[in-house]
Amino acid sequence: MTTERDGARTGAGTVPGRVVVIGSLNVDSTSYVDAFPAPGETILARDFQVALGGKGANQAVAAHVAGAPVEFVACIGDDASGAYAQGALERLGLPIAPIRRIPDASTGVAQITVAASGENTIIVTGGANLALTPALVDAERDRVAAATVVLTQGELAVDTIEHLARVSNEVGVRFVLNLAPPAAVSAATLAVADPLVLNEHEARAVGVGTDAADGATLDGWRVLAASAAGGIARSVVVTLGAAGAVAADATGSWTAAAPRVTAVDTTGAGDGFTGTLAAFLAEGRPLPEALRIAVAAGSLAVQSRGTVDSYAPRAEVLAAAG
Ligand code: ATP
Repeated sequence: MTTERDGARTGAGTVPGRVVVIGSLNVDSTSYVDAFPAPGETILARDFQVALGGKGANQAVAAHVAGAPVEFVACIGDDASGAYAQGALERLGLPIAPIRRIPDASTGVAQITVAASGENTIIVTGGANLALTPALVDAERDRVAAATVVLTQGELAVDTIEHLARVSNEVGVRFVLNLAPPAAVSAATLAVADPLVLNEHEARAVGVGTDAADGATLDGWRVLAASAAGGIARSVVVTLGAAGAVAADATGSWTAAAPRVTAVDTTGAGDGFTGTLAAFLAEGRPLPEALRIAVAAGSLAVQSRGTVDSYAPRAEVLAAAG
């Protein structure tokens, strides 16, 4: 039997539940070393790993794994890293038609070095991601208009985020903004975010909890989110690591405690949370329910290594959410 959702996967028509992610795509190249090299020094690494990364890619994969029909609009360069990234998305089952290959650009790359101490250094080269401009948003207007949820992150240029917020609002599509890192976007952009998704540091950066003593508890953060919802943004979600997350909109405010688990790798947990949240909101679940499911997804993600490889399938997430 062909369902409306199957239709979305094959790109047919307007389908409820479609998530359009416009965001960064990087290839993460990680060297594992005993200690960081000094300037001018050459050292041998113990291990090396290449993986798909960038907040846009991570969140698109998370929403896809959560079961949403996802279209990920991203830019890659005309190089081997771009071909690798496209292959990785294809293997994960994401459509590659919305991926643009930018001539004479290099694919975005994060050069990560992890020392035996667990510390890391990261150098990000934006490369083709810099082609995510307001003009590209205009070129994608029809795709945005056909979405149920549009999702983006603070990694994009401020004018691109602001334009996407404006276009999403004009065409009446729910705009989910993960302001990570905390880009200095306009108040009008924050105001249409539904929700604005922040971690604790980002929340303080946008003025949700200005006092260091604010939000020491999950319930304290719920109160802060409630006072920001309807003011700073239409709705607000704050993630709080091992404690869980809170959410608020015009109708109420909620907490979702994370289960106590053994975290082996927290990399990408926030992206797993946000992609899952967007997927379940697009499916029509109310904010407190999507929050609870996203917290379950985040807590599963920290229990295995990697970023997109650590995102648990929908059935497992729903079982964990109870
Ligand atoms: P990152 O930048 O590491 O991806 P973040 O700062 O954006 O993360 P967090 O608030 O650390 O986001 O984590 C997002 C969600 O992941 C939390 O709301 C929670 O559901 C889950 N999570 C994170 N750390 C833990 C943990 N140690 N135990 C259980 N769940 C966790």
